Amino acid sequence: MHRRITGKLVIATHNPGKLAEMKELLAPYGIEAVSAGELGLPEPDETGNDFRSNAAIKAIAAAQATKLPAFADDSGIVVDALDGAPGIYSARWAGPAKDFAAAMAQIERLLQERGATTPDKRTAHFVSALCVAWPDDHLEEVEARVDGTLVWPPRGTAGFGYDPVFLPNGHDRTFGEMTSIEKHGLPPLGLGLSHRARAFVKLAEICLDPR
Ligand code: IMP
Repeated sequence: MHRRITGKLVIATHNPGKLAEMKELLAPYGIEAVSAGELGLPEPDETGNDFRSNAAIKAIAAAQATKLPAFADDSGIVVDALDGAPGIYSARWAGPAKDFAAAMAQIERLLQERGATTPDKRTAHFVSALCVAWPDDHLEEVEARVDGTLVWPPRGTAGFGYDPVFLPNGHDRTFGEMTSIEKHGLPPLGLGLSHRARAFVKLAEICLDPR
């Protein structure tokens, strides 16, 4: 049985870009969201082998620490020509300084080394795994992706992380050139474009009641 989210929800992220997106996605459902960062919760080690288990690790840690339902996302970019890298290590490729210009340049260097110069060899997708954990160990988990190709040089200054090099299929602007409304493409304007919005639509279906 799926469980509905009611009342207060802890958002288990310390990433300001993701926190802002999650608050925006939750706003229409009347959920009172507080972040793990605001509550001063420690960041657990992401020791899972895939996006789904890392999302669960973060949600479970926050639910246990606060005794409230907690919502976590684990996400990243998967580049086919790089055998799936950086994948679950997408944040780590930017280093402690969170230098995503350097991380994007690193991907580009490796693509060039492998001769991936045409769009068909530069395919990639973003993945978002979402998990809601309750203090009694109940879990709700969903996952979604958005497919596209990598461009070089980076384009646009909107968004965060790898947005400026990701061109979603069927679009002529990168995520870095889109407003957040366009990037998410949520109903009623769209059916979900970004990986996080698509996963969120799935989660909303099973766990959230519109206001
Ligand atoms: P984590 O989920 O906190 O481990 O971090 C995932 C990393 O993937 C982020 O720090 C970003 O670099 C990257 N990422 C995830 N989602 C997006 C997105 O929507 N746009 C750009 N980069 C993203």
